[in-house]
Amino acid sequence: MDSVKNLAKALQFKTVSSSKLEEFDVEEFSNFLAFLKETYPLVHEKLELTIINNYSPLFHWKSGTGELPMMFLAHYDVVPVNEESWSVGPFSGEIKDGNVWGRGSIDDKNSIISLMETVEALLKEGYTPKRDIYLAFGYDEETFGEHGAKQIVQYMKEKGMKFECILDEGGIVTPGSMMGIDKDIAVIGVAEKGQCNYEFTFTGEQGHSSAPPKSTSVGKMAAFIKDVENNPCEMRLTEPVEEMLRNVSPYKRGIEKIFMKNARFFFPILKNIMAKGAQTNALIRTTVAFTKTNAGSEPNVLPDKSQVTANVRLLPGDTPEKIEAWFKSFHHDFELKRLAAESPTDVSRTDNDVYRVLKKCIEEVFDKPVVTPYLMIGGTDSRNYKGLSDKIYRFMPCRLTSEELGLMHADDEYISIENFHKMIAFYTLFIKEMNR
Ligand SMILES: [Zn+2]
Repeated sequence: MDSVKNLAKALQFKTVSSSKLEEFDVEEFSNFLAFLKETYPLVHEKLELTIINNYSPLFHWKSGTGELPMMFLAHYDVVPVNEESWSVGPFSGEIKDGNVWGRGSIDDKNSIISLMETVEALLKEGYTPKRDIYLAFGYDEETFGEHGAKQIVQYMKEKGMKFECILDEGGIVTPGSMMGIDKDIAVIGVAEKGQCNYEFTFTGEQGHSSAPPKSTSVGKMAAFIKDVENNPCEMRLTEPVEEMLRNVSPYKRGIEKIFMKNARFFFPILKNIMAKGAQTNALIRTTVAFTKTNAGSEPNVLPDKSQVTANVRLLPGDTPEKIEAWFKSFHHDFELKRLAAESPTDVSRTDNDVYRVLKKCIEEVFDKPVVTPYLMIGGTDSRNYKGLSDKIYRFMPCRLTSEELGLMHADDEYISIENFHKMIAFYTLFIKEMNR
């Protein structure tokens, strides 16, 4: 029960992320690290601790062997809360109805605390791993990891470090009903889509609106938006999605089963079905969402400039350059500015021992769900770790219902105590299996 109380305490620190560094309440972050030190004395005594860029702890558990190390990632920053719409205190860490409530309970302090509980307990029983183990905790994952993950990676690259595998948050176990099957399904993120932001500027004639030109800058912008929305990027089947469809297919019936089993062959038919759902659509194409506009100042003044921002999520295989050329292929008259660009990650393979061990541990802890790789449409800190390992997997050992999944970044976030115990059981088993 102590572990549950420790999680509850961890949720009481207001380690809220902000895109502006000066808005971080640094005392809360320092206090959180002090809390870890006080709560996990063995981890702090036996593991080497390096603090990267003031707030990112990097723990190193030495094995004394030359085997390639393994690493766990997690983050302790959380997204902001709207206090009034919570039915419990968002930073109360309240324990009731078999759950622990609070911001960060499923994203991602649960990972940090269950990892710390796991290692503390293993140390207590005198366990020594066969390969070195690292725990690296980011503190600004929710705002792109500029100060946490990216600094940790820089530190590791300077030291020439390499890892057998890296495990971060990401996929989870869900009821199969979410995919129309009877068995639970566990998804392991093997790749992440890339993300770019672009600003398009359209120029128009200045002057009075009483004698307007045929189209104003607003009209030009609108025509472009409509054109792009009507002609989305081409649909393409990537390996992780193909593998996911194949793994789920045995639990489907009829024609669906045949389509999914042979997804590449039937893709010309399958893609039209997948394009209908927003989630499945995002799995098979680079998506473009126009998110912000800025144009005009007065009702009767022609706007000389109109701007629109697009958020683009790149499918593995696409690049910022490719999407920019695609935008230009519409032949509209605009100035394009790249605001931010992160390429898709590499795809980690699944035909190796680490993946097999991961799968086996999931099957054991979670009552044999269908385990499958998948493509993540959201991002994690692990996207920054390219080059440090070719086996980067994203999986949080929790079974979440679709309702619970919806609590991520939402009001009344909680984790069930059962899930929290499963996380510890999973990490313990995974460490032991990786160190046999
Ligand atoms: Zn997260």
